[in-house]
Amino acid sequence: MKYRIGQGFDIHQLIEDRDLILGGVKIEHSKGLLGHSDADALCHAIIDALFGALALGDIGQHFPDNDPQYYGCDSTDLLKKANYIVIKSGYKINNIDATIKAQQPRLAPFIQQIQHNLADILKLQTNQVSVKAKTMEHLDSIGDGRAIAVDAIVLLEEIELDMQFDVKNHQG
Ligand SMILES: [Zn+2]
Repeated sequence: MKYRIGQGFDIHQLIEDRDLILGGVKIEHSKGLLGHSDADALCHAIIDALFGALALGDIGQHFPDNDPQYYGCDSTDLLKKANYIVIKSGYKINNIDATIKAQQPRLAPFIQQIQHNLADILKLQTNQVSVKAKTMEHLDSIGDGRAIAVDAIVLLEEIELDMQFDVKNHQG
């Protein structure tokens, strides 16, 4: 199969005394996301989309949240590992499209930096990584500022056998 599509979703509680990290970028805010790892919901949703595209299960099966080695871990490391699994499976990312749902803080000033950072981590061009942000119009838990959620979609493309694709370069 030449192309595979995958979808991912993640949500974390937004609480005090935690850093807010999205796509590996630390965002100035009075609150941050609660989780076993750094709770980077954007990285987690993309990871789930990558595994989903290849029907390889989900993030919890590959990086269990009761495993001490992932406590407080940098989710960009997990994203690199997931991308390496994709490449070892014979695929590469064609493009990513993600939507962050957050009432607060305003994410527009950070979007470019997040896209650059993800492109850098995944060795993609920035035009292959789309990140959008939306508020929830003050509706539900996200609109009340109690959570941030992310939807992500990825398209994977089969790596051509005759192509000199540098797998080592992606090793996590
Ligand atoms: Zn998560």
